Amino acid sequence: MRTTVGIIGAGPAGLLLARLLHDAGIDSVVLESRDRVYVEHRQRAGILEQGTVDVLRAAGAGERMDREGLRHDGMELRFARRRHRVDFPGLTGGRSVMVYAQTEVCKDLIALQLKEGGPLLFEAEALAVEGADGDRPRVRFRHQGREEVLECDYVAGCDGFWGVSRAAVPASLARVSERTYPFGWLGILAEVPPSHDELVYARHDRGFALLSMRSPSVSRLYLQVPADTDAAAWSDEEIWDELERRLETDDDWTLNRGPITQKSVTPMRSYVHEPMRHGRLFLAGDAAHIVPPTGAKGLNLAVGDVVTLARALTHEKETGSAELLDAYSATCLRRVWQAERFSYDMTTMLHRASDATSFDDGLQLAALDRIASSRAAGTDLAEGYTGFPIG
Ligand SMILES: Cc1cc2nc3c(=O)[nH]c(=O)nc-3n(C[C@H](O)[C@H](O)[C@H](O)COP(=O)(O)OP(=O)(O)OC[C@H]3O[C@@H](n4cnc5c(N)ncnc54)[C@H](O)[C@@H]3O)c2cc1C
Repeated sequence: MRTTVGIIGAGPAGLLLARLLHDAGIDSVVLESRDRVYVEHRQRAGILEQGTVDVLRAAGAGERMDREGLRHDGMELRFARRRHRVDFPGLTGGRSVMVYAQTEVCKDLIALQLKEGGPLLFEAEALAVEGADGDRPRVRFRHQGREEVLECDYVAGCDGFWGVSRAAVPASLARVSERTYPFGWLGILAEVPPSHDELVYARHDRGFALLSMRSPSVSRLYLQVPADTDAAAWSDEEIWDELERRLETDDDWTLNRGPITQKSVTPMRSYVHEPMRHGRLFLAGDAAHIVPPTGAKGLNLAVGDVVTLARALTHEKETGSAELLDAYSATCLRRVWQAERFSYDMTTMLHRASDATSFDDGLQLAALDRIASSRAAGTDLAEGYTGFPIG
């Protein structure tokens, strides 16, 4: 099997890259280790930055998002029983975010790819990327019980944090920067209308809580828990009680409770692999970097990477110049590090470490108070949350 760009992974990065390349007249083959149902139902991100929304629309994948997604013009910070709204358009000159689940983004892109794009093979597990530093890279993969080879001009490693692509970069050429956090998020999906019409990020002495939503009838809520927590150890009632405590306010706000349909614990990690290119192999999305979910940046970074890569491959096709491909890693990493910084700042401002002192508490409350009382500090948060420019 032969193609121009071999794409490993059909998450948001791989699927969107295939679509952008199709629009540019560049052929590709996507290899995905899981089956379609699994990929379309994996619960993950839910916040699309303004730039991601614009890219999906331009790629022809925005029709259902515009119909069913929820545009959010702000978010709420809760601390010391107070509420502060951050007005995104007012602080950023018109930018907002969209609540539209990653599952739905993937469904839309898969449908487009199967209808109009090149091959998308499910249950096709990449085993290794070979010859990345030569002219003819190959992906060895297993499909329908047989081992096969995909020969390519370029390989896009879009196979997430646990994929195989990154291993093709010799360790001696790579720099890995990493931080793991001693806590994780216990996340629930609940069949109940959201208790607030915008996301609520709460800092509380008992730990962080986040109120978000997937639709007008489905809530998504999170609690900070120790990293080794077993989700099954929390009863539904305990989860609702704890959410109520951490989201408490001095006014008459109340939390809507309803049936919990899904419960899981997500570990929290910051991770950057540099460079994001080795020869003809380009890493994109979680394959190259991870952020803690507090800043809602992971999916949006994946989108930024593949937009940059598609642009560079198109430039090479049209002009013969590899200039943008050569700049790919540096271009992406600039934005990646901004998102790493933003996600780290949000995480440390809102989560409470088990050994936190009154000094740590005081700093967190001062940071939140600063955002609530200074337009400059509010603007910094709003700009970061609605997204850093791509490219
Ligand atoms: C619980 C949770 C909540 C999150 N919340 C948010 C949020 O609110 N906002 C946000 O922006 N981000 C969030 N993220 C992060 C976001 O989901 C990821 O950053 C995003 O999925 C990255 O997309 P990707 O395409 O790079 O990788 P992935 O989505 O991981 O896709 C990689 C694909 O490659 C496939 N694959 C792996 N190995 C192979 C192989 N050997 N061969 C073939 N295929 C392979 C995988 O099956 C997968 O389909 C969250 C993540 C989690 C886990």
